Amino acid sequence: MAKAAAKAGRTPAEVKLIAVSKVQPDARVDAVLSEGHRVFGENRVQEAQGKWPGFRERFDGIELHLIGPLQSNKARVAMELFDCIHTVDRRKIAATIARLADELGRCPELFIQVNTGEEPQKAGCLPSEVDGFVAECRMLSLPVKGLMCIPPVEEEPSLHFALLARMAARNGLDGLSMGMSADFERAIALGATHIRVGSAIFGERVSQAS
Ligand SMILES: *Cc1c(COP(=O)(O)O)cnc(C)c1O
Repeated sequence: MAKAAAKAGRTPAEVKLIAVSKVQPDARVDAVLSEGHRVFGENRVQEAQGKWPGFRERFDGIELHLIGPLQSNKARVAMELFDCIHTVDRRKIAATIARLADELGRCPELFIQVNTGEEPQKAGCLPSEVDGFVAECRMLSLPVKGLMCIPPVEEEPSLHFALLARMAARNGLDGLSMGMSADFERAIALGATHIRVGSAIFGERVSQAS
């Protein structure tokens, strides 16, 4: 991270490292917490719900990011558990979050997920919908920090990172959630403010999470 930031003329402090702990054994998560890291990402609300309240009792200052899909029926739990949600991608979930934010009196920081590769099986709003969706979220007074993407596996991620950066800039958003174990240096070069790194920190995942 430090090398990639220096090469891009940025400081490491401009990039937040989200340690993606999905399906990792508790002992590995414990080890990373004990080293002093406090920012973590999870894919599934239910898995996070089982795992993080316990860690929060033992370690102060934990910051939790939801980086997997969010269903409306899990939105309340997600908003109580997570400090940041990276996967807002449709009007219905935005409206649900706005309603719950009113009720709870607080709202996690939000990223809008963009399906930059326009892959049919992938979540995220389409690039052509981004400007309109950002505007809708703003009308709902949602705290939108930036955009997030997961590039297609077979393509050069830099093209997608650059596209995401352009869409964020033209919407006046300064958050860019992009880059994983295999490509975080390229993401940092293109302006990532949040990188989501799992296996490079914890080792290979024992089972596969979606
Ligand atoms: C699992 C996951 C990551 C981390 O992937 P690694 O390749 O293990 O770094 C990042 N972002 C999302 C959305 C993920 O689901």
